[in-house]
Amino acid sequence: MSIEVKNLSKYYGEQAAVNDITFSVGKGEIIGFLGPNGAGKSTTMKMITGFIPATQGEIKVCGIPVSVDSIETRKRIGYLPENNPLYLDMYVKEYLEFVGKIYKVKNLKERVKEMIQLVGLEIEQNKKIGMLSKGYRQRVGLAQAIIHNPDVLILDEPTSGLDPNQLVEIRELIRRIGKEKTVMLSTHILQEVEAICDRVVIIRQGKLVADNLASNLQVETDTQVVYAEFDGIVSKNLLQKIPGVSKIERVSDSKYLIESQSLDDLRKTVAQFAQKNNLLVLTLRTEEKSLEEVFKSLTK
Ligand code: ADP
Repeated sequence: MSIEVKNLSKYYGEQAAVNDITFSVGKGEIIGFLGPNGAGKSTTMKMITGFIPATQGEIKVCGIPVSVDSIETRKRIGYLPENNPLYLDMYVKEYLEFVGKIYKVKNLKERVKEMIQLVGLEIEQNKKIGMLSKGYRQRVGLAQAIIHNPDVLILDEPTSGLDPNQLVEIRELIRRIGKEKTVMLSTHILQEVEAICDRVVIIRQGKLVADNLASNLQVETDTQVVYAEFDGIVSKNLLQKIPGVSKIERVSDSKYLIESQSLDDLRKTVAQFAQKNNLLVLTLRTEEKSLEEVFKSLTK
């Protein structure tokens, strides 16, 4: 196991930010650590990386207890903290060399060059970090996290604040880097887990509420909701006849939210039904499930 967390808790005064959680991450896995803001994700990650001590419980990284030898465990971990703190006045290359020196990386110049290539910073490598866009700063953050070739990567909300294009690029980069490493990444976005992760560990109010394969998340929350807009008035009674439908919510006379527990693609079922009944469909869209709905279905 690359990461083992056993009965881990962290108290800030009376408040349990992390409350008796247990999970492990196997070598080579990419796990998503999912939960709403304030759930305890950052606190857990800070304890795994040895930045703050645990109140109770045990953490092992590559078999070594963090409480016994956090210098050894830190060598095996690459960490991208939340909000990616960087020295904005330093040049990209200068900063990566600075970090590499701290880790006593051998053949440092060569390694920095390699990192710049790996994360796609060639064009920006001679700029000051403060000049870079948020997406490129995240690339610098990822490069500094892997410069000492750690086995384990801990990424705290690595895509927060990125625009849609940057988001896709950084996710792709994480997937690429993650092929050779164990990755634990935190997020409050459900779709991010579906896009990158093999497994998902869900935390809420400091407690673990689910630990499952990312592909099972869909099955566990098998209610599909489709927003449908028709070209004219359609009665709710008619839509109730759609095969497998479990609930119809009226938005207006021509707009409805249609719910089903069937595993078939509900958009297809609705489109076929509309065609049979001579209804013209203007919009047919699957509604994204909110994290709240996922929690509800996982904890009921
Ligand atoms: P997340 O990363 O999931 O958003 P955090 O781990 O940052 O959640 O926070 C979990 C809880 O612990 C929150 O209620 C937060 O206010 C509290 N907390 C975090 N850091 C501290 C601190 N240094 N002192 C007191 N409370 C804290």
